[in-house]
Amino acid sequence: MKLFEQQELTIYNSLTKSKEKFTPINEGAIGMYVCGPTVYSNVHLGNCRTFLSFDLVFRYLKHLGFKVRYVRNITDAGHLENDGESGDDPILKKARIEQLEPMEVVQKYTVDFHTTMDKFNALSPSIEPTATGHIFEQIAIVESIIAEGYAYVKNGSVYFDVMKFNEDNAYGKLSGRNLEDMITNTRELAAQSEKKNPQDFALWKKAEPQHIMRWPSPWSDGFPGWHLECTAMSTKYLGNQFDIHGGGMDLKFPHHECEIAQAEASNKQSPVNYWMHANMLTLNGKKMSKSTGNFILPNEMFTGDNNILSKAFSPTVTKFFMYQAHYRSILDFSNDALVASEKGFNRLMDSYSSIDGLITSEKSTVDVAAWRQSCYDAMNDDFNSPILIAQLFEATKWINGLKEGTEAISEKDKTLLKTTMHDFIFEVLGLTDTINETSEDGNKLSSAVELLIELRDQARANKDFTTSDRIRDALQEVGIQLKDGKEGTTYSLH
Ligand code: AMP
Ligand code: ZN
Repeated sequence: MKLFEQQELTIYNSLTKSKEKFTPINEGAIGMYVCGPTVYSNVHLGNCRTFLSFDLVFRYLKHLGFKVRYVRNITDAGHLENDGESGDDPILKKARIEQLEPMEVVQKYTVDFHTTMDKFNALSPSIEPTATGHIFEQIAIVESIIAEGYAYVKNGSVYFDVMKFNEDNAYGKLSGRNLEDMITNTRELAAQSEKKNPQDFALWKKAEPQHIMRWPSPWSDGFPGWHLECTAMSTKYLGNQFDIHGGGMDLKFPHHECEIAQAEASNKQSPVNYWMHANMLTLNGKKMSKSTGNFILPNEMFTGDNNILSKAFSPTVTKFFMYQAHYRSILDFSNDALVASEKGFNRLMDSYSSIDGLITSEKSTVDVAAWRQSCYDAMNDDFNSPILIAQLFEATKWINGLKEGTEAISEKDKTLLKTTMHDFIFEVLGLTDTINETSEDGNKLSSAVELLIELRDQARANKDFTTSDRIRDALQEVGIQLKDGKEGTTYSLH
């Protein structure tokens, strides 16, 4: 019997704004699509939060025994600056600034994205398709939307006719926007555009002469509209109707709303059963965002190389910090919160590694089976990782009691405790035990660096700055950076 037959998973569906029992279209198998990054710059920690939220979903679904086809795209064309609709193409802009081919920009930041996800121990999706690799499919969808009467051609560009679509269908159901209100609010903008209505969105754009990422089409040499790629790639690999579609909250409108309209216009079917939206990581109370400069890069976390940070934090601690909030809650970044997460994480690892040494008794005073189910209950309740983590800390309390002899555990329960903690910490949350599992070489290195830090502290206390600077510079040269903080000196490897 598979785990999913014993556990009842509920998911908050943004479309119905309620938690629903999860039932996949095909028993035991799930199709999940998540909007991937637009690869024109390094992913920031906010982007990572969304991808890690869905890594948790993917991991838990797999843990329950589902066969999951997880498709996450790479946006390498078509995503213009203003919600994909107008302005520069950021990939082309970057290519001009850095004097690179646009595809060199795409390659550079795709590699950065993958390296970062690897550092976070995120699983690779099953398929990672690109927008530029699916131009034919996108053109075919535009043709079918035109044939259905929901799109029009203007000067070589093709626009989705939102008003026409809304006559026969309901536009705005995901974001809860009403088309009439939208029209009232944007009336005066209409005149300057090729669009019949400001709410219409581009399916295909004729390329200006300087726009070098272009493809032939029945309408013009041009490029696809941003929303189209996700409709093309999700339906190609998952079918016209699939189980889960995810992305950051900021993609709900217009991106996902337009995806629904495109799919319904061409396939006459609502494409997605469960829409999931991950909430934002904020910094100083504002959304982390590339365009405003209000962000932290993952590598700055791992090296401590940012003034906001008192020290370096490992990828696993950073991820633990994120999972201490539910994916649908806003999470504000702070150094203090990270310091606290690191302490908590270390405590959890200490506790886990001491299970083997626990002395067992005839009978348990703790109910391990009930606790195990409460770990599942947490995750079954719309992937509630903070509750799961609270349950794991509950176990660390017992483990302390067992060490002190105030609690007792049977051999059988001890095994169940260990496997449950192992499954949830490493398999479901995907954390890595950086403390107990560091290689022997890593341990040797850290002892040597800690000795040098101690010698440097002594030199500084003796006002021997020649020696203290020499230690810092020599370490820097071999790629080990020292960082002096309130709680002493820490180091990071580049
Ligand atoms: P982009 O590369 O801009 O298309 O964004 C990639 C993903 O990151 C999308 O799912 C966004 O919703 C998400 N995202 C962007 N900013 C943040 C943030 N501050 N917190 C969480 N997710 C974000
Ligand atoms: Zn998308």
